[in-house]
Amino acid sequence: MQRQTFLRLCTLGLGSAFLPNLSYTKHRSSGKKVIIVGAGMAGASAARTLSDVGFEVQVLEARNRVGGRIHTFKDWGVNLELGANWIHSASHPDNYIDTLATQAKVATQETNYGKFKLYDSQGRKIGRLRTQLSMIKFEKQLAREAELLAASDSDISFLELATRSYTSSGNKQEVINRLIRGSYANNFSDDLSEVSAKYYTLEYEDYSDRTDYLVTGGYDTIVKSLLSGINVEFQSEVKEIRITGNEVVTITDNETYQSDHIILTVPLSILQQGKILFNPTLPDYKQQAFSRISMGLFNKVFMEFEENFWPGNTDFLVFQHETLAHFGIAVNYHHYRKRPILIAMPVAESARWIETEPDHVIQQTWLNILSKAFPRKNVNLKRVKVTRWGQDVYSLGSYSYVPVGSQAKDFEAIACPVGRIHFAGEATLSAHHATVHGAYLTGIREANRIMGY
Ligand SMILES: Cc1cc2nc3c(=O)[nH]c(=O)nc-3n(C[C@H](O)[C@H](O)[C@H](O)COP(=O)(O)OP(=O)(O)OC[C@H]3O[C@@H](n4cnc5c(N)ncnc54)[C@H](O)[C@@H]3O)c2cc1C
Repeated sequence: MQRQTFLRLCTLGLGSAFLPNLSYTKHRSSGKKVIIVGAGMAGASAARTLSDVGFEVQVLEARNRVGGRIHTFKDWGVNLELGANWIHSASHPDNYIDTLATQAKVATQETNYGKFKLYDSQGRKIGRLRTQLSMIKFEKQLAREAELLAASDSDISFLELATRSYTSSGNKQEVINRLIRGSYANNFSDDLSEVSAKYYTLEYEDYSDRTDYLVTGGYDTIVKSLLSGINVEFQSEVKEIRITGNEVVTITDNETYQSDHIILTVPLSILQQGKILFNPTLPDYKQQAFSRISMGLFNKVFMEFEENFWPGNTDFLVFQHETLAHFGIAVNYHHYRKRPILIAMPVAESARWIETEPDHVIQQTWLNILSKAFPRKNVNLKRVKVTRWGQDVYSLGSYSYVPVGSQAKDFEAIACPVGRIHFAGEATLSAHHATVHGAYLTGIREANRIMGY
């Protein structure tokens, strides 16, 4: 089947249900069984939705915990989020995560992106007013350049668009140029040279809403509360899925399961790398769809110090590094939880560097940066924790982004079901991909689809 024909069929099948219809409680199931692969946010929302209307639900999770790319680390006596930390676009009408956080009594705090301190690679502070004026000029020019891009048939990289916008906005300071690139790369989780300018300036719906809440009360509590009372089988890595007639057979190392439907919520990289065997194999268009969206890399370095020596009243500290681009955006966790903790968020090239270096090298690089910026302070590190999401065999990366030349409809192709095999997860929804609320919506979308089967 041609890809375009398939896309049309898929969209017809979905109708207006591409975004979830939350009135699902009207439906009653006839005791059908659904296997859900993955106990992250998408799996949890699908399981909750189907279970609430009487489906027999079985969640199979490869790890020994729920949450997937939501992972709350508690060993330091404070909640540290190794994966997702923010509820992005919290005021967006399709975003229910804030409501779920309130229901689960999980504390959150609004982030102010305008409150940051910027240091150049020599540790010199750059004035905020000047930085913000430059950013405003840049953003205005970016909007103009995006309009020009809309008229063109071809796509370019976000780096090219940003460079054009930066140059024609009259900005001259390299330090600001690097800040802009760093902060955008952080959104996309890869080098801007890989990222589609057309998609992110013209197609991506979430672009303008930046009301974000930092979850400080434990993000995983939200997933746990969705999964409460639901049967989750841990350490159950799904290896193979077989379709025989109207039955789905799901195979792990220890067990074989039969069901009427299956919802796969595994990260896109798991599908791209063929970690699950499909019998019969998935159609070609599906394989092509997997490869048209990319998986980026974003890691975190948590550093606790003996005492807090940096400016307190700021949400972020941004340190530039001579060679590693996008290295030094750090959350001032002291501002949120009164603990002397900085959370660095390296992406793309810097995140890849993190994956290859031992903790002590990463730690020393950070101590050098901080000693330059605060030469008269005692920079005494107590402990460090580093994530390596690229090496995590059940994530193989952090979250999806749209590479140059790909489009919103590529997400629809990934989401399109193949018979009784359904696809959910953050990389299956254009409008809110790469987010927790996007993953949540996809779980409900696929549950609704099964109800209408
Ligand atoms: C470092 C980092 C920071 C982020 N920050 C934010 C943020 O601040 N805000 C935000 O909104 N989003 C953020 N994200 C993205 C967000 O975490 C994800 O979009 C979302 O959690 C994905 O949910 P999911 O259910 O689609 O996938 P996952 O959470 O990955 O769930 C999939 C599950 O499938 C399991 N699995 C994999 N393979 C198998 C198999 N073969 N058999 C059985 N189970 C399997 C996995 O173990 C996992 O539990 C961040 C992600 C990362 C990595």
